[in-house]
Amino acid sequence: MAFKQPLPQSLSPSRLSDFQACPRRYQHGSIERLPQPASYASAKGRFVHYVFEHLFLLDKSDRTIERARGFIEPAKEEILTPEVRLDLSLDEALLATLIAETRAIIESYFAMEDPTTIDSEGVELRLGVDVNGTPLFGILDRLDRDADGTLTIVDYKTGSLPNRNYDSQTFANAELYAALCEATLGEKASNIRLMYVAHGESIERPVSDVVVRARATAATHAWAKINRYYQDGDFPATPSRSACRFCAFQDLCRGEGVPVPSR
Ligand code: SF4
Repeated sequence: MAFKQPLPQSLSPSRLSDFQACPRRYQHGSIERLPQPASYASAKGRFVHYVFEHLFLLDKSDRTIERARGFIEPAKEEILTPEVRLDLSLDEALLATLIAETRAIIESYFAMEDPTTIDSEGVELRLGVDVNGTPLFGILDRLDRDADGTLTIVDYKTGSLPNRNYDSQTFANAELYAALCEATLGEKASNIRLMYVAHGESIERPVSDVVVRARATAATHAWAKINRYYQDGDFPATPSRSACRFCAFQDLCRGEGVPVPSR
């Protein structure tokens, strides 16, 4: 089957994760662009990112907790569109929960760091570059200039903490951002900080040249496969409990006979 839709012009770290988890998910989400209903978790993630993005657009001295709380109201306007409200079946009780959890995350964040002391090189930084012939593009949550002059990639996480034996996938997206950062800005980042803002904990790792090169190479190999599957007109399904668990295309796949594990 030839696709009617064009191949996307670039590959983002999150779309790469989709492809690596299951190529069929990439087909449905990035090529066919089938609708993926908003979930409560995705809406909460967007709320929190909205608040922190706007907080860091303020002058350093203005980044207070009161100002952060003040961004909840405009976040409602921006994020809770009629379509999202419908997807979430949003009623007053669920809205109150969403706001209470966002407020709790703001409190938790301010216990982790003092944003009035942070020198940020940019927030929601759009980085796009060709790496080894692969058009990479991503939006980085925040890039900090630390006191010693080095750069730190900061990624906000609103979900659960990884367990203590977190695997290399935990840092995979951020390490690809390190490749993007170096190729776009001409400067290497030294550290990656994943901020699990709902839990008040960060995990950090120094940026390793070897790992960053490996991430860029993996992206190049994936892009070559994406092009091949696109020409073939078929992206294989690779169902697994972890890949399918939060996938929006479970019913579609089951209807096509893919053995999706039960929830
Ligand atoms: S439900 Fe599972 S097999 Fe189907 S697209 Fe999603 S991840 Fe792939």
